[in-house]
Amino acid sequence: MKLWYFSIIDLSLMDCRKDACMVVFLSGCNMRCIYCQNYPDLLKRMEIGVEELVQMAKNNWAIGCVKFSGGEPTLQREGLLEACRRLNDESIGVGIDTNGTAPQVIEELAKIGLFEASVDFKAPRSKYIDVTGLDAYDLVIDTIEILNDYNVDYEVRTTVALPMLTEDDLMNMANELRRLDVPLWTIQSFIPTNYTPRRLRTPETKWLEEVANRVREEYGLNVRVRALASHVAIRGS
Ligand code: SF4
Repeated sequence: MKLWYFSIIDLSLMDCRKDACMVVFLSGCNMRCIYCQNYPDLLKRMEIGVEELVQMAKNNWAIGCVKFSGGEPTLQREGLLEACRRLNDESIGVGIDTNGTAPQVIEELAKIGLFEASVDFKAPRSKYIDVTGLDAYDLVIDTIEILNDYNVDYEVRTTVALPMLTEDDLMNMANELRRLDVPLWTIQSFIPTNYTPRRLRTPETKWLEEVANRVREEYGLNVRVRALASHVAIRGS
């Protein structure tokens, strides 16, 4: 069984909330987010066998988890499920960053055993297609509900690029996340790259913190702010 990837980081202390991890950035994505940092990298395709990947993880004494990111990892369903099975066999945790468009694959992974997950919640329903190019809002909600049903340790993540998302948008999204009883919502600032449109701006950390405080006060959500300087190594979001 093979997987196609565009990058592997042998050791990251930032991409898994619970342990040091190896990060595997799988190729391809079904979205076209306006702020994507990874174009055109995620279109590259290098091949690795699942067994080779498992051996790499076993030989990497520093990690407790392999985090699949991308791109959108669930597009490679069969290889991903096989990798998840084999890594669980070796007592190595499996994490996933997903855009939430494949709830059935997330359910299959959860049945095998997921160490942790991060689900993108990119925009309110009214802006979802504009931001991502895909009519997938309800699929993302289904994915969150499945993670709840299977008691997976997960967070929901939102990347904030101005003027694309407003404070009202974030409050509307918070209301939806309260209804879903999500354990953690991370709002993070957009990182400009050579690929992203110049009209997009990075929000000030102070503004994000003010919105987060409002969300905590009005909705009681567990929300954290990840500012530009503290997550420059995070990809796939
Ligand atoms: S931001 Fe994530 S979901 Fe969006 S296009 Fe890039 S890799 Fe795909």
